[in-house]
Amino acid sequence: MAHAKNNLINASNPSFTSAAKAAQFNPTNPANPFPPPAVAYCHGLWQQHGFQFTVARARRTRLGDYRHSPLTGHRISVNGNLNSYAFLFTYLHEVAHLLTQHQCGGRRGRVRPHGKEWKLNFQRLMEPVFAAPVFPPDLRTVLQRHLANPAATTAGDPALLIAFRRYDEVVADHRMLSELQPGETFRLGSRTFVKEITRRTRALCREVATGRKYTVPEVASVVTITEDQ
Ligand SMILES: [Zn+2]
Repeated sequence: MAHAKNNLINASNPSFTSAAKAAQFNPTNPANPFPPPAVAYCHGLWQQHGFQFTVARARRTRLGDYRHSPLTGHRISVNGNLNSYAFLFTYLHEVAHLLTQHQCGGRRGRVRPHGKEWKLNFQRLMEPVFAAPVFPPDLRTVLQRHLANPAATTAGDPALLIAFRRYDEVVADHRMLSELQPGETFRLGSRTFVKEITRRTRALCREVATGRKYTVPEVASVVTITEDQ
């Protein structure tokens, strides 16, 4: 999902990036990020295609990343803060980029990043996952619908984003910005905002400290603040 364009406000501000430890892919690690029934499959893909794999700190502008250079080879990273289902989905999204690069490397520039070659690869990579009891039924239904014509980013399919969110660890104060009413106060990173009005997929929000206005995607995960806090 390296091509995501949903720049959350001020992504370059270091206070907006949460540092998490990078860990190497290790299928025997009990804290591995994949759903257990999918570990062997994902490990196999890693061995077969020989890429560097990194569990990355949470990035606000992308969930995962595929890079290739003759010097460093193929590199894939996936954000470590994703729940296991979203992690697996993002991992296979990036492996699909790698396969597309293998197939179409000679005609770079003529293959769109999320074009039909990539879509086909992604669909094929997901097949074994659907054939095994990996996803809960509700998520599986949404995913299969999504896979008919996968979007470049998870954020491009709100139904999928909401389905994944149901499996996030429940953190009492975390809500999606779309769930807040105008006038409600929330925190994003270390800053405090008041939601004003919604414009299509984004909300106009006023930063309390500066009075500056920002547009924030309605799918942003925010921490709500109550008056007596
Ligand atoms: Zn992508």
